[in-house]
Amino acid sequence: MTAARSVWRFADWALTVDTSGSGPIYVQECMSCGDDSGASEEAEGPDVWCLRHTGRTGHTGFRCVVTTFFRASLVEGPR
Ligand SMILES: [Zn+2]
Repeated sequence: MTAARSVWRFADWALTVDTSGSGPIYVQECMSCGDDSGASEEAEGPDVWCLRHTGRTGHTGFRCVVTTFFRASLVEGPR
């Protein structure tokens, strides 16, 4: 019986932040009511939303979710 073979060459690939499209996307979520700031490519907007939300509701706990894009690419040259 012949076993199936797979060749995994992780060393030939590198994972880097993909800057070809959008930068990181920030969203702040209220830990009390689940309301969120909406997505923004800059952290400042969601941060300001938190302070306004606190002033309006008294909620003080937030969770920041950051989505960053990565891309795997072949490493050039012999190793
Ligand atoms: Zn809230």
